[in-house]
Amino acid sequence: MVEVTHLKREEQGTRDLRRAGLKVTLPRLRILEILEESDPHHLSAEDIYKDLLANDHDVGLATVYRVLTQFEGAGIVTRHHFAGGQAVFELDNGDNHDHIVCMKSGKVSEFKDPQIEERLIEIAEELGYSLTDHRIVLYGVYRDESDS
Ligand SMILES: [Zn+2]
Repeated sequence: MVEVTHLKREEQGTRDLRRAGLKVTLPRLRILEILEESDPHHLSAEDIYKDLLANDHDVGLATVYRVLTQFEGAGIVTRHHFAGGQAVFELDNGDNHDHIVCMKSGKVSEFKDPQIEERLIEIAEELGYSLTDHRIVLYGVYRDESDS
């Protein structure tokens, strides 16, 4: 049963890579799987590298960076540079959510607010633009860490 779901996932990954115009290679498949299964799903290249090592996949850190850059170019992943941390990557599923980052732990949470988005469209229009994309990052301290 486990084997069956694993095969399905691999087929899915193969399809995703082909659709993005990338050749299917083992490192690409493995890294795609890690990004798909991670929870929370904002991972640094080193997080992915450690996950590969822990599962006996012999992929170097330089390869992880290269694959992530290829994924970014192909529109499969989004790269974020949150203040005070290293770049993190997440699968781009097109839902265009925003982020809040804890300044103590680096914890990242996601949110989506239709009212804010409506307002952003209005602001852009007032300035003579039609909005095509936006990124909002809030910084704060996660409540469980605020008193420690
Ligand atoms: Zn996110």
